[in-house]
Amino acid sequence: MKEKIRVRFAPSPTGYMHVGNFRTALYTYLFARKEQGTFIVRLEDTDQKRYVEDALEKLLSLLQWAGFEYTEGVYIENGKVVQKGDVGPYIQSERLEIYKEYAQQAISAGHAYHCFCTPERLEEMRKEQVMAKRAPMYDRACLKLSSEEIAKKRAANEPFVVRQKIITEGMTEYDDLIRGKVIIKNELLDDQILIKSDGYPTYNFANVIDDHLMRITHVTRGEEYISSTPKYIQLYQNFGWEVPKFAHLPLLLNADKSKLSKRQGDVAVEDYIAKGYLKEAIINFVALLGWNPGQGSTQELFSLEELVQSFDIKNVHKSGAVFDLKKLDWMSSEYIKKLSIDELYERISHAGFLEKSLVKNASHEMQSTEYLKKVLLIERDRLTKLSDIGEQNEFFFVEPHYETSLLHWKGNTPQMTMEAIEKALALFETLSDIEWDKRDTLERILLETAGDYAQSLGGIEAGRGRGDFLWPLRVALTGAQKSPSPSDCAFVLGKTMVLKRLQIAISKLS
Ligand code: GLU
Repeated sequence: MKEKIRVRFAPSPTGYMHVGNFRTALYTYLFARKEQGTFIVRLEDTDQKRYVEDALEKLLSLLQWAGFEYTEGVYIENGKVVQKGDVGPYIQSERLEIYKEYAQQAISAGHAYHCFCTPERLEEMRKEQVMAKRAPMYDRACLKLSSEEIAKKRAANEPFVVRQKIITEGMTEYDDLIRGKVIIKNELLDDQILIKSDGYPTYNFANVIDDHLMRITHVTRGEEYISSTPKYIQLYQNFGWEVPKFAHLPLLLNADKSKLSKRQGDVAVEDYIAKGYLKEAIINFVALLGWNPGQGSTQELFSLEELVQSFDIKNVHKSGAVFDLKKLDWMSSEYIKKLSIDELYERISHAGFLEKSLVKNASHEMQSTEYLKKVLLIERDRLTKLSDIGEQNEFFFVEPHYETSLLHWKGNTPQMTMEAIEKALALFETLSDIEWDKRDTLERILLETAGDYAQSLGGIEAGRGRGDFLWPLRVALTGAQKSPSPSDCAFVLGKTMVLKRLQIAISKLS
């Protein structure tokens, strides 16, 4: 029987989810689901300096938001952090005794040693190496200590770290699922620290111990770990453990091909959620950063389930993936188009964008659900983000301000403009409620009226067209040169507001 695949996402609690980390989580999750393996979340919180309040809750809520379903490791259940699984705890700070025990084992077997070097000595050593143009590396001074010397220093409570004793001869090689064979000369490897002076393990140690004890079969992580992996492999071998398979994911890059950084824009998934990008779009966008379905497929829109079906870790690219926000905009607008008006309204209001947008200063009537849904019906195809409601069409929420001259169509006199607006006013006054309620009926009536009006002025031969009627109407309703069609604007605004705005135009003209 094929060995069951077990993978893990192992974030550190930084207080936000970097897009790159989210992509690691996503690929790891897709891989597990596709292979019917187990997806585990483990918290790597052994860096005491980087403690952030509520970071764990935020991180786990984000995985829940994304719709990842998993039953082993750390997760949020009814708003509380819980751990499940038979190889826990899954929070590293609760595993300190385990790391100490394995460090002791490694020391006893001669694969690790105590190092008492002070930070000052290490800094001095580093400077000399840099001056001599050598790669900075621990010089193994403490490897020469006798067991008596070590015992003495320990009895005197001298601070110490535990270092890995690297095998420096030969090469270490491994088959990366994405990059193929990776070979590194062992002489380049440093005697890295396994246990810090505060007694906490380093990431470099804990990841190996945990991946082994948690029976992880495939390790998926960013390419910044490629060069450390040989050291990890030596650790597995020292302990006589099976080495898992590795897949190193490519970097995310800015448009100028530099590493994606905060300086050039937002890097936290939370930032994109706060901006109003649709969840489906964020997940889809991140999935395509460094992966495509291959086999000549040009499909770009994938639901999470479709991603599960199409995902193959072999199709993850080797080279860095450029973070192209235009693509995210496009995807988000595509997913918005697919939503029903009720769903779209629900999402906008749930995410709090009604309070944040123009809507908050609008009249009571304009804040009604019915009114807002009409706005969305007209705007849906033009929205990029949930927060864009009213962005391009302010006049749906505030009285328009405009120069009176804008009302005149192509050199028409104020008198002609006045006539067109009065005509519109008379028409709108007589429309029945049923006609007001139907978007296409309103459109038909307005176009017919505009056509008849142009005829009455002499038609095409006289250089007349629908614009003579529709232009002043558009400006009176919106104050803008560009807007949805006048009939759509009238449909949203409704009788009372349309009449009021036409009257305002008349008084501006008189
Ligand atoms: N805690 C590490 C990080 O956030 C995890 C790397 C790994 O997956 O091993 O980069």
